[in-house]
Amino acid sequence: MPSGNQLRKRVLSGMRSTGKLHLGNYVGALQNWVGMQDQYECFFFVADWHALTTDYANTSQIKQNSVDVLLDWLAAGLDPERCTMFIQSHVPAHAELHLLFSMITPLGWLERVPTYKEQRENITEKDLGTYGFLGYPVLQAADILIYKGDFVPVGEDQVPHVELTREIARRFNQFYSLSGTPVFPEPQPLLTPAAKLPGTDGRKMSKSYGNTIMLTDPEPVVRQKLKTMVTDPARVRRSDPGNPDVCPVGDLHKIFSSAATMQKVNEGCRSAGIGCIECKGWAADALVNILNPMQERRKKYEENPRLAWDILEDGSARASKITSATMRDVREAMQMSLEYEAPKKSEAAK
Ligand code: SF4
Repeated sequence: MPSGNQLRKRVLSGMRSTGKLHLGNYVGALQNWVGMQDQYECFFFVADWHALTTDYANTSQIKQNSVDVLLDWLAAGLDPERCTMFIQSHVPAHAELHLLFSMITPLGWLERVPTYKEQRENITEKDLGTYGFLGYPVLQAADILIYKGDFVPVGEDQVPHVELTREIARRFNQFYSLSGTPVFPEPQPLLTPAAKLPGTDGRKMSKSYGNTIMLTDPEPVVRQKLKTMVTDPARVRRSDPGNPDVCPVGDLHKIFSSAATMQKVNEGCRSAGIGCIECKGWAADALVNILNPMQERRKKYEENPRLAWDILEDGSARASKITSATMRDVREAMQMSLEYEAPKKSEAAK
């Protein structure tokens, strides 16, 4: 069990249940989460309801996808002794708070969320004109506020989402309070350094582009993917000098290679002293060094999936204790407590 030390600030974050994770997920969030476990009281959830906001039509893989995300978390070093991990839908109080927030959230707030418009325009193969899709930031607010979280680790582009959560908290607190005391604190975004991680084709690494290196890719697959990775287009021939600053392989080196290797890359590339094949081999070495221990850790849970499920059950139980307490406060503030109360006398009868 985590220590539950009251002095530690509480951090909340989730990841959609998209199945096995890739290096972009690792660098963009997971690596950071692993580093936060001792500094903060961390709650990490697999957001399966959020996955439904876009992938509602076919739920055949959703449960396995959630477990796969958890396995990669454990592989990357999230430790159930030091943080709480669970699946969002296993803690139904998130949905209850979402419903109550949906009563007070003005439609205009949701329609102006930048990702809402962007995704409605870009994702044309699915009908996203649903109530759930418009309301997903309200669900997100419930996910965070139900734990009365202090911080939400986010990249720059997600700061508006945290701002919306703060606005919803403020609006709730304006309407309802516990004898004048606000129910919800306003969480702060915890800006996480986002390294640029290109996929094998040089675009942002993403499953939808088919350019990923998965955390579960075995060494030969990693090496093969690196071999076909795009490089600085200026290096047409071996004798052409290149520039690691404009090369996706150079970006990988910056994130994963040692200072000594980075120096060899910088000097060798710019002077055409090394070839791209050699350089990619070094990048593959660095990746394999990171992925091997992860895959070793993952194996234990793959061989005994019940262990992973036990971690989820334990995590939901811990999370539910906190959500029950928050919902008691919420109901009391809204004068909807579950306690019996004697009928109030009307003014006229006094
Ligand atoms: S030598 Fe390395 S950094 Fe330079 S272009 Fe080739 S792959 Fe990229």
